[in-house]
This record gives sequence, C-alpha cells and structure tokens, in this order.
Amino acid sequence: MATERKGKGHISLARHVVQVLVLALFCIPPLAVGQGLLGATSGSEELAQTASTLPFFGSLSSSTLAGLVLADPFAVLETIMASKDVVVGALVGALPIVLLYGIVRGRAFCGWACPVNLVLEPLDALRAKLGIKVREHGCPRHVKLWVALGALVVAAVTGQLVWEAVNPISLFSKGLLFGSLTGLATFVGIIVVDLVWGHRVWCRALCPLGGFYEALGTVGTVSVKMDYDACIHCDRCKQVCLCDPEILDGVLSGATKRVEAGDCMLCGKCVDTCPTKALSIGFAAPTRTKKD
Ligand code: SF4
Ligand code: SF4
Ligand code: SF4
Repeated sequence: MATERKGKGHISLARHVVQVLVLALFCIPPLAVGQGLLGATSGSEELAQTASTLPFFGSLSSSTLAGLVLADPFAVLETIMASKDVVVGALVGALPIVLLYGIVRGRAFCGWACPVNLVLEPLDALRAKLGIKVREHGCPRHVKLWVALGALVVAAVTGQLVWEAVNPISLFSKGLLFGSLTGLATFVGIIVVDLVWGHRVWCRALCPLGGFYEALGTVGTVSVKMDYDACIHCDRCKQVCLCDPEILDGVLSGATKRVEAGDCMLCGKCVDTCPTKALSIGFAAPTRTKKD
C-alpha cells in the first residue's frame, strides 16, 4: 500500500524562480546602459539604441543573443500571414524557440516563462484566500487552438498584426522596459474574464499563444509521469492543475503512463501536491492508448 510522504516537492518554487530570472534577464540590458526600467530615464530612446547593441537584448517576443535573432514563432507566423511574405530571417529566428519547446514540451513556455502566469498565480492565491468565488461557465480547453487559427486568418485578411496589439506577453515587456501602460487594459480584461467566465479560462481555453504551444506540446519528451501502484486516488492533483483537471484523467485511470495532453504546462503543481509521490516529471516515451 502506498504511504503518504511528509515533505512536499519544490517544483513550483523552482518554477517561480525561473519565471523571475527570465524577466530579470530582459531587464539587464536597459539597466546596464542606465536606461532604467519603466521608461524612467529621460533620453531613453538613445539609451535603448545603445542597449540594443549589447550581446543580449530584447523581450520574450523578439531578442538577439550574440547576433542570433530569436523570435516568438507565433508572431512570426502572424507576420508571414499579414505580409504574405515568407521572411526567411524571421523563420530562422523562430526555429531555436520551436526546437526548444518542441523537444521539451510546448506549454512549458506557459508554465516556466510567460509573465502572465507570474501575475495570475499570486492573484489566484489571493482570490482563494479572500474567498472570492469564480463563476464557472466553462469553455472547452481546445478553443484556444481555434482562436490561434482565427488570429492568423485575421492577420491574413486585414494585413495587420491584430493579436500583437493586445498580446499580454509583449505588452508586459513594453510596460516593464518602457513604462507603456497599454498592456494594463489587457491584464485587467484577463482578470475580469477569469472572474466572470471561469477559473483561469484565459490561459486554459482562450489565449492564442497558449493554443500555439498546445499544438506544439503534442510532441515533446518531458512529461508528468505516473506510478499507478502508488496512487491512492485522492484527486488532489486534479484540484491544483494549472491547466485543466481533465488532462490527468488518462494517468489516473491507468490508460496512460504519462500526461499526454499537449496542454500540460509542466508546472509541477500536481507533482508537488501528490501525497504519495505517484507523480513525477521526467523523460517518458508516449504511452497513448486512448485520448486524454
Ligand atoms: S496561455 Fe497565453 S497568457 Fe497564459 S501562460 Fe500561456 S502564453 Fe501566457
Ligand atoms: S498536469 Fe500537472 S504539470 Fe501539467 S499542467 Fe496540470 S498540474 Fe501542471
Ligand atoms: S494526487 Fe493524484 S496521483 Fe497523487 S495519489 Fe492523489 S490522485 Fe493519485
């Protein structure tokens, strides 16, 4: 019989440290040239120009590392659709990101790098502490795949990067580096939608970038793995899942040995919470025997 463990894992703590470090990394160039953050210094345009010449510079949407351009693959797709032009340089910039998250797990971006989660998770905890109830109207998690497709179609039809205009990730970077407040409305919108429509509905079901990484996440070598014999079916993992509890159904029923859904963010909350160490994160071959 499985025994309950005393200590809890610390994957969530490690993840929050990584999330902060990712943000800090993008803050180094403007701080190094004296530009400051939040557009604090006058003459920041010239300083931003200087910062852009450093070996590393940019944001989660686009950056340069030792002359190598790194670009958000979804923004690149959108640009290609809007311009009707295959920009080879941009595709090359997107390739390392696609390879990284393709090899690891697509939505590891959501769990470990996206600043939106860094903001929403503490708010979520605060909401729970204050006892604020979320209306649950539900929305199928795969809707975001269609939203992603829709964003690309809109870009093709209008010739404009419409999603980029409201993309909370790039707007967060602009706010942090240049003091732009345009992202504030998007963040408030996400918080309100999460409150009146359903718990974490934005990241779970609506965000097109999450949809893109969900599609990429159907491949990937790192997964949440299950030791079925150790499970006591307490369902605690489902209660804390940062994505959608249903993605754990396959492992909990014994149908699969790892969480197969491209939706999993590898956030580790289920692993941290499991009282018997039945769950872990690591390399695992696909064991898909039925859809989860
Ligand atoms: S779903 Fe979108 S907003 Fe949410 S964590 Fe992923 S990329 Fe960020
Ligand atoms: S299955 Fe586990 S690791 Fe994956 S999103 Fe849910 S809680 Fe996070
Ligand atoms: S947390 Fe999930 S995996 Fe762990 S024992 Fe409970 S039901 Fe099983």
